Amino acid sequence: MPQFPVVDGELTVGGIPLTRLAARIGRTPFYAYDRAVIAARMSELRSALPPSVRLHYAVKANPMPALVCALAQQVDGLDVASAGELKLALDAGMASADISFAGPGKTAAELEQAVASGVLVNLESAREIDLLAEASNRCGQAARVALRLNPDYELKSSGMKMGGGAKPFGVDAEQAPAMLRRIGEAGLAFEGFHVFAGSQNLDGEAIAQSQRLGFELVLRLAAHAPTPVRSVNLGGGFGIPYFPGEQRLDLGPIRDTLGALQEHSARALPGAHLVLELGRYLVGEAGLYVCRILDRKESRGTLFLVADGGLHHHLAASGNFGQVLRKNYPVAIGNRMIPEPLAKATVVGPLCTPLDLLAADLPLGHGQPGDLVVVFQSGAYGASASPQGFLGHPPALEVLV
Ligand SMILES: *Cc1c(COP(=O)(O)O)cnc(C)c1O
Repeated sequence: MPQFPVVDGELTVGGIPLTRLAARIGRTPFYAYDRAVIAARMSELRSALPPSVRLHYAVKANPMPALVCALAQQVDGLDVASAGELKLALDAGMASADISFAGPGKTAAELEQAVASGVLVNLESAREIDLLAEASNRCGQAARVALRLNPDYELKSSGMKMGGGAKPFGVDAEQAPAMLRRIGEAGLAFEGFHVFAGSQNLDGEAIAQSQRLGFELVLRLAAHAPTPVRSVNLGGGFGIPYFPGEQRLDLGPIRDTLGALQEHSARALPGAHLVLELGRYLVGEAGLYVCRILDRKESRGTLFLVADGGLHHHLAASGNFGQVLRKNYPVAIGNRMIPEPLAKATVVGPLCTPLDLLAADLPLGHGQPGDLVVVFQSGAYGASASPQGFLGHPPALEVLV
């Protein structure tokens, strides 16, 4: 992985050799996120996309406070999906004008906090309109809202589909005109639309196509809006390569499409801005999960490396976070990076369940007790998306390097 150069046979993170970093942290397992890699990704993206497109970070992907603070300085907004994430975003210094709050099943208390904070609420149901109207009265300030749409199309080749068909997210496009009327009647401050079709997509053409369809849908519905549209959030879905054979996302088709949509928007929806909300694309490749080999044993021809970390810290790498077929994340012995390792090994964690698997049959057989197992592409949906209490081992530490 080019973002973590190997020096003298050892992986480095932010210029620090891995064993030195582990010594600094004091114990394994840990997640390390490289701030320079995140900053490089942001500037790459800025130069690849039309400058007027606003880039938001979806906090759900990695809510580590220091990382959210660092990103808050670089993005145009933060997207949150709970009162806890809202607090994080505000603590990170993001202006409430640039925070949006999505998610099904927002509680009355969360909606009131959102109104009191002055953030934009992505509405997901008629119930939320009523609760926001009450909260607006109590706070003496109209709730800022965007209508989250469940589009009438699906995002092709997405890892996780979150739009099209029957979905708990947003409101069906068919129901949108009635909802827009109710938003106006309730006196909420309407700002625009939010269309999020799916996640972990590596097909730039498919993402561009869904952006065009999303924009067309917004144009059709804008005629029903109580006030002019100011914000069009076209979602994200930008994926990163996790598994052998996966190609990096080509931003070319997305750049061209967004350029055209920006022009169209300037004519059809003057004053509106386009927004993308990205999670794993901004942080996923900047993170490593690191655990230490405790034991090395053989069973009927298979070499097992038993590590002090596993599924309780990194559910996704174990293959149990929504995957249908388990595939290996890229894994290495970080303090012993040899050019062409041959001997194979299977890396398991300390949990007493066969699900606790970090690498199956990969060329890691040179790993010895005391060595550091590194799981790459681990900057998103790691620590916070794992059952850290399962079996009572200590949680993973997290550092921003
Ligand atoms: C999860 C989520 C994201 C981020 O998804 P990534 O795959 O991490 O980019 C963005 N927006 C919404 C509404 C989400 O639910």
